[in-house]
Amino acid sequence: MSDYDYDLFVIGAGSGGVRAARVSAAHGAKVAIAEEYRVGGTCVIRGCVPKKLLIYGAHFAEDLKDAKRFGWNVPDTYDFDWKVLRDNVMEEVDRINGAYTNTLTNHDVEIIAERAEVTGPHNVKLAGGREITAKTILIATGARPSVPDCPGAELGITSNEAFHLDAVPKRILIAGAGYIANEFAGIFHQLGAHVTLINRSDVILRGYDESIRDRLLQISMMKGIEFRFHAEFQGIEQLDDGCLKVSMSGHEPITVDCVMFATGREPNTEGLGLANAGVELDAKGAVVVDDDNRSTCDSIYAVGDVTNRVQLTPVAIREGQAFADSVFGGKPTRVDYENIPAAVFSHPPMAGVGMTESEAKNKLGSCKVYTSDFRPMKNVLAGRNERALYKMVCDSDTGKVLGLHMIGPDAPEILQAAAIAVKAGLTKDAFDQTVALHPSMAEELVLMR
Ligand code: NDP
Repeated sequence: MSDYDYDLFVIGAGSGGVRAARVSAAHGAKVAIAEEYRVGGTCVIRGCVPKKLLIYGAHFAEDLKDAKRFGWNVPDTYDFDWKVLRDNVMEEVDRINGAYTNTLTNHDVEIIAERAEVTGPHNVKLAGGREITAKTILIATGARPSVPDCPGAELGITSNEAFHLDAVPKRILIAGAGYIANEFAGIFHQLGAHVTLINRSDVILRGYDESIRDRLLQISMMKGIEFRFHAEFQGIEQLDDGCLKVSMSGHEPITVDCVMFATGREPNTEGLGLANAGVELDAKGAVVVDDDNRSTCDSIYAVGDVTNRVQLTPVAIREGQAFADSVFGGKPTRVDYENIPAAVFSHPPMAGVGMTESEAKNKLGSCKVYTSDFRPMKNVLAGRNERALYKMVCDSDTGKVLGLHMIGPDAPEILQAAAIAVKAGLTKDAFDQTVALHPSMAEELVLMR
């Protein structure tokens, strides 16, 4: 019999924690998982899942407009009921939350609905006072939106609250120009809000290929989303009529009905007691881990956003799986961080895998670039002047595809399949040898010049 209450105690039931708990239990470990809010974590409860459903809902605004050109007799004015969409989305979130909970209980993982703090290398204390020992502790507490430290910051919301609004604001200002800012700009704009995005630099979606993000900026501006660059957030003041006046450097103040911060996310390590076990944190408060997800305390591991490596759900899931297989499954496994595909569910969406053109040039000195800049067939008939852009970055000598970047309808769906070819190290030649599937947008991948 073990000297500990549990073989594994997981703190945080998000994507990484749930996978690690379930698989470790399947490997025979006695596992408990503590969650202070809801099983499912950011992705299920207030991230990827509800966001994607809002995007589907928002897209009908354009689809209804386009429908007329395809012969549908759509009235000139029609209503949108935010509460119907919001409540249906939340119902789906509840369903997935239930499914995640069932998965854990079906694998005999004990769910503890309390906040837990680390009190030593093998010790955890629950908010209710219960003290627990575990051979191994896994920190999977994720991250939370970071809010600038400025006067009136408490008057703004973050993506956490965006899903629960009473109504779509008439005017919204979004601070930041990354994933969340561009995705919510698309959602709110489609749902009828006037959207202004402000950013401290003049770069949107830093890290994505320059041509692709320029295309998004151009299309977003054409749709009516406003951008203010080199605008450092200074503060929010509530006016007598309830509106919010936002001050920023370099620009006139803007008055809006809602302010949303999308200025990055910070690891949830505050008050977790990690210092009690000698767990080192980096300058951003993230748990420092080695390639095996082990912290500077031998018995404590961490996976997912709390480690601030790649803040993506599928990566957290892989880290959770690798941890469980390595520590409890007798199968040492490491996550391969090369060529991770990613997407921004903006309007239109963009997606990419591998090196951008500038990364390839910086790293290799040169590269070969192939593009396809086209107007999707559906947009042509709809009279929608939005062009898609695909870019392939290849090794100048071998033709190996180093990166693939796209913006246009269904870009994430198309890129996921193409990412397999990039991951497999295929060449431009291999793409060219593949017969086009006509008529599709994806066929542009094998027709690039
Ligand atoms: P991002 O890192 O994508 O973008 C942050 C934005 O905020 C940037 O424009 C950045 O500007 C700006 N910013 C950062 N710090 C400050 C500051 N102190 N003051 C003013 N502006 C600031 O963060 P998000 O919050 O959008 O998303 C967090 C993470 O969540 C993403 O990195 C991503 O990994 C994940 N995510 C993934 C999604 C997906 O897969 N589709 C969807 C949503 C989130 P600058 O460019 O100048 O640094």
